[in-house]
Amino acid sequence: MISKETNVVILTGAGISAESGIRTFRASDGLWENHRVEEVATPEGWAANPELVWNFYQQRRRQLLEVEPNSGHHALVELESYLEHFLLVTQNVDDLHERAGSNNLIHMHGELAPLRCEECGHVEIMMDENHLGENFLTCNQCEGRMRPHIVWFGEMPMHMPEIEKALAECEVFIAIGTSGHVYPAANFLHIARRHGAHTIGINLDPPENVYFFDEFFQGKAGEILPHIVEKWTTE
Ligand code: NAD
Ligand code: ZN
Repeated sequence: MISKETNVVILTGAGISAESGIRTFRASDGLWENHRVEEVATPEGWAANPELVWNFYQQRRRQLLEVEPNSGHHALVELESYLEHFLLVTQNVDDLHERAGSNNLIHMHGELAPLRCEECGHVEIMMDENHLGENFLTCNQCEGRMRPHIVWFGEMPMHMPEIEKALAECEVFIAIGTSGHVYPAANFLHIARRHGAHTIGINLDPPENVYFFDEFFQGKAGEILPHIVEKWTTE
């Protein structure tokens, strides 16, 4: 069903990084690492208690230094090198896809490693030892305060026109490790279907939108992906 010429778009969520030791989000009762989402993942939360939000993301940023990509991330690199038309869209803010070697990659919900200036919008990777502590950091261009380069609830996801174009053109759409709760990402399945794509889901638990997949594989991404990618790339 997949050959070198097949146009494939993949959407990943927190589930693909779970086997690397990064906790998912909804799995734990709507809490993200013991915090309510409204507290740590909204502009209102940042305005109300910037110290708490800053420390929350500093912990997530420090964790990046302790985790490694898993066999699921690596399998997607294999698939990308086999295909001529491939786009990986991730909701994840960790850097495990790029560290595994993925190239054609969009972080629609932002990234942990870079920070963004609240004043001038300057974005810079700040992962040195002196960037990972409790103190707020300032912009190297204008001295403004840096904030997480993360798309919070109520903010606009990044690169949407490019993603929508790819969804309209793809022949196979695969969603991996995502609960189907968070919009607009949960809608990508429907957009791809509407344009005639064959749709495949891979998830530990059946996601919210499970009935809309043409094929659904239940289990761990790190176990299923290497297997099916090998099958696709050798047939
Ligand atoms: P989610 O936490 O809502 O859902 C994760 C899904 O992955 C669940 O349905 C679960 O059954 C499944 N899952 C768990 N372990 C799995 C495994 N080993 N293999 C396959 N599936 C597995 O995640 P979401 O849909 O991505 O939405 C969460 C939001 O929170 C995103 O916007 C994301 O930006 C953010 N977030 C990111 C990270 C990260 O970057 N690693 C981690 C937590 C939350
Ligand atoms: Zn600035």
